[in-house]
This record gives sequence, structure tokens and C-alpha cells, in this order.
Amino acid sequence: MAANAGRRTKIIASIGPACETEGAIKDLAVAGMDVARINLSHGTLDHGIELFRRVRTVEASIGRPIGVLVDLPGPKVRAGEMPDEGLPLIEGSTIRLVPGSGPSAGSVVTVNHDALLVDLHAGDRVLFGEGSVIAEVTDRTDDALLATITHGGLLLGRPGVHIPSERLRLPTPTAHDLHLLDAFVDEGVDMVAVSFVRSAHDIRRVGTEPHPRGPLIVAKIETRAAVENLDGIIEASGAVMVARGDLGAELPIEELPHIQKRILQRCITLGRPAITATQMLESMIHAPAPTRAETSDVANAVFDGSSAVMLSAETAIGQDPTNAVATMARIAARADAEFDYDGWPHRVHRISGEMRQSIDDTVTNGMTDAAWRAASETNAAAIICVTRTGFTVRSIARFRPKAKILGFTTDERALRQLTLSWGAIPYELTGGGVGEAQVERAIELARLHGEIRSGDLVAVLSGSASYPGQATDTLRLIRV
Ligand code: PGA
Ligand code: MN
Repeated sequence: MAANAGRRTKIIASIGPACETEGAIKDLAVAGMDVARINLSHGTLDHGIELFRRVRTVEASIGRPIGVLVDLPGPKVRAGEMPDEGLPLIEGSTIRLVPGSGPSAGSVVTVNHDALLVDLHAGDRVLFGEGSVIAEVTDRTDDALLATITHGGLLLGRPGVHIPSERLRLPTPTAHDLHLLDAFVDEGVDMVAVSFVRSAHDIRRVGTEPHPRGPLIVAKIETRAAVENLDGIIEASGAVMVARGDLGAELPIEELPHIQKRILQRCITLGRPAITATQMLESMIHAPAPTRAETSDVANAVFDGSSAVMLSAETAIGQDPTNAVATMARIAARADAEFDYDGWPHRVHRISGEMRQSIDDTVTNGMTDAAWRAASETNAAAIICVTRTGFTVRSIARFRPKAKILGFTTDERALRQLTLSWGAIPYELTGGGVGEAQVERAIELARLHGEIRSGDLVAVLSGSASYPGQATDTLRLIRV
């Protein structure tokens, strides 16, 4: 836990060829990975399931829950596999864009979108891999588009090909997404990210059981439409990702930092964990240390209120995935120490006044507000949450309390879903009975795990046994 000491912002690391053995995944976990992301845009379903099982094996060996976030590809257009050494594309040269799924080579870049020749027109700009290479379509032949490279670079792996989302009329989740999802639901997956969401309706179409019976649904905000329908999407989702890669291609790049802040604030206020993703430590794909700008980006993402920060290519295909996680853990822990804990709750109160809350959430949100105040006034050592769905923990995390947040749940899936929540230290509530007995057991376990000591004052949030099924309705301050 050394790399995690004092860190409260969570880290998601994407699993890929550079870190997919059990040993490598374990190294990531030890370095500070809280959630493993399996990106289904790459590799086969069987391989994805194999990775999922490996993470579970590693989790069992380290004795701390590791969440798994399965990322559905959505209608993402990607280029075919680049050669191992990468494909250099030089400014001024002409390439052929060919619909298909075979590998790319030389001046032929394959693109997995059947309607490519219809959806793109001469004069269109095409961005590859978050804009590292840009081409302009000049002409069309019977089987290909001709394009001139206007900005050269090296393409690696299977880079995304950005076609404006209003042009690309494909639904999300796609039939393929739902097929992948079914297989992972059978495996008991914890969290699922939905790509290219445009409205709350897209989230509802996922159709799984509400969490924690089903996976926590993470809406990736990466289209113009999603930014416009933000509050509805947040309300319908379990968590949100600021997917800056595609979002940055879809909107003027200068809008990105401000949209990031707005998305994070609104998410947190509604008790939904929010992830900041993409290019956070991009240079570490090759370099042993991040750039100064990247270091600031991670710290600022923490200050903006990210529940979690994410690594993509840095770990999936990077030179030293463990170093990337360890570096991010250090930057995040340091930023957590500088976080504006006193100012943040006031911001949350102000924003929540502007927002609609569902009736179901009102009681829990009221109780966690009281718990946050009580804990800060009494300088409580910990806030113990006895929670069935995990919502109490997500709701108290809104306020970024200084006291540690201990989330006790009997539900294995809720437990792993808490790995994404800011500051949450999830523990399984075993041997607890019901009602009062559960609270006593949670306190006992907190002590056994070394989280609290005799003499500490703790705030305890739970539901009362007299009204089972009701939201969290009891707050106690206990000297243990
Ligand atoms: P992706 O999503 O890596 O699946 O594209 C994240 C992003 O777009 O930033
Ligand atoms: Mn994306």
C-alpha cells in the first residue's frame, strides 16, 4: 500500500499487451491501480474475458478489491492494426483509406467502417489517434478514399479515426456492444463504460439490472450531443468519464479544460463518481518521467474534483506501465494533500441548489450532508458507511471529507464498485447479522483492519432495521 498512502483520488489503468500477464497486473495493483480497465476496442471477447479472470486472480492474491471496468467500443471507428514498429505518415504524402479490418501497411490505412466512402467527402479532415496525424480527403476511387497527410506522425496499434459524430449515424450501444456486455454480465463484471453516448436514452438502452445487482454504468462523455444533454446522462448513469480523446476531436480543443470542470462538478454533486481520462501521462508511453504539463494536468484534474484519473496507452502499450501507475499515484497523492477541502463543500452546495435530485436520493443525500458536517465539526477520524448499494459512500464522497471514508457492504459487486469512488476504502462486511449488529461488526472490522483506534471518534451512517429497504437514515457519533 506504500504508493497509496494518503492518496484519495483513484487510479484506473488500462490492461493491454504491455501489462497483461498476471505478474504485470499484480505489479500495477501494487503500484496503485484501483480499477483495471479492459478496453474491448482491442482484441477478442475471449481474450477480454481471460483478462477479466486474471484481474480476479490477482485481486485474490493481494487482499484488496480491484474493480474491473469493461469499456464497450461503441460505434468507434478505428484504423486496422499498424506494423509493430508503427506506421510513419509524412506530411504531404497521399494515403489510401480503405474500408475493412485487415492490417494497415505502407500507404494503405484500413478503417473499420463500412460506410466510409459515403460518410466522408472530399475536403473532410480526418484525425487519427487523438489528432497525432491529420489527413484531408482529396478524392474517392471505387474502393478507397485518397487523402493527403496535412500533419504527419507515427501511428501505433489501432488508432481511432475521428469522423464527426453527427455525420456518423450509428446507434450506441451497438448490437456488438450488447453482445459483449452479455458475456461480461455472465462473468459478474463490476463496471461497464458506454462509448459515444448522446443522450440518457442511450444509457437506458444498456438494459442491465440497476447496480449493484448489475454493473455500474459509466457514461463516456465524448460527443457534442452528450455535452448538451449532460445532466440527463449523469442522472441515468452510475458514473461518468470525461473521455477527452474523442471529446477533444469533437469540440474546439480550447473548450476542453472548461467542459472537464463543468462535467466533474455536476457529476460529483449528484453523487456520481467522475473519471478524467486520456493522455494524462501520454509521454510516458516512451519516457521514464512525464512532462511538466502532464504532471500539472493530473494534479489539476484532482483539484477539479476527479474521483479517478485514468491511464490508457501509458499502461496498455507503454514501455513501463508500472512506472506510469506509480508516477500517477505520487502526483495524485501530492495533489490530494493540497486539495481545497474547506472550499469544495460550499461549491457542491451551490451547484446542488441549481440541480434536480431524484426523490430516492434525497434522504441519503440529506444524511450524508449531516454526516459531513458532524464529522468535520468533531474532527472525526473516520466516516463509517454501512451500505447495501454503495450510494451512501458515493454521496458522502461528494463533500470530499477530510476523515477517511470506510465503506462496508455485504454485496460483493457494490464492494468492487466502490473502488472507483473518491476516498472510499471498501471492506466486505462479513458475519454482521442485521441492523445494530451490522453497525457493531463494521466498527469491529474497521478496528481489525487498523483503520481506527480506541479513543477515536467516528461518524457512522447506516439504515435502520425498523425500516428495511429504506435509504440511509441513521447517523451516530461514536467514541470507540
Ligand atoms: P477511448 O475513450 O480510449 O475508448 O477512445 C476515451 C477517450 O475518448 O478519451
Ligand atoms: Mn473515446
